[in-house]
Amino acid sequence: MRFNILDAVNDLKVKISMADKLSINEMAKQLVSIGFECMWCGECCRARSGDNTVILFPDEIRLIMDSHGMTPNEFCEPSIPQFMDDIGILHCFEWVQKRHSSGDCIFIRADNTCRIYQQRPWICSTYPFFLSFTNGSAKPDIMVSECKGVGRLMDEDDALKLAKLLKGRLLAEITEEIRLLDNLEGFEDWEPIKFDSGKGYQGYTIAVHDSCGMIYITD
Ligand code: SF4
Repeated sequence: MRFNILDAVNDLKVKISMADKLSINEMAKQLVSIGFECMWCGECCRARSGDNTVILFPDEIRLIMDSHGMTPNEFCEPSIPQFMDDIGILHCFEWVQKRHSSGDCIFIRADNTCRIYQQRPWICSTYPFFLSFTNGSAKPDIMVSECKGVGRLMDEDDALKLAKLLKGRLLAEITEEIRLLDNLEGFEDWEPIKFDSGKGYQGYTIAVHDSCGMIYITD
């Protein structure tokens, strides 16, 4: 099915108003009843435990650059392409954090601590939880990824902090997506592709889009 920007932006605008109405206190109660305490096992950052893709938004990239004196090229790469245009350019939405050849995040240390812990992205600071509009529901639900720390005692203060982060993350994700789509001038609709990332992107020109605009990368 072809992707249509106007439909997608209208859908996102409905979602952002629903996300805005989320009650932090109600979410915190749910989090306490689920329970969570980080065990510092580092599994969420490693490839052996499944998908450890970390999407990076422009503000997150800037924070890591400023705090750690890094260039984007040292820790960012294009996400998986979404579509190919008429002249064969692959288009990606957002950047992802680089991983070692093992697949592990480049920022995890041998002792399972994170080199950028204070500036870690939304996805890391809210793991193993995320909010999702499941099965077309109008209100986002709290979802839980696999994690050894789930089910452990969580106090109310920690739950409130996490609930605020989860709501902030969802609002940031939707806002970023709307801005990205608003910037996609000239590509009003397209046929999504399934790109075999195992073969790499050698020989392709890649356009990476985010809320700040677009950058071309040529091999
Ligand atoms: S940035 Fe830190 S917390 Fe996030 S995946 Fe990498 S090591 Fe883990």
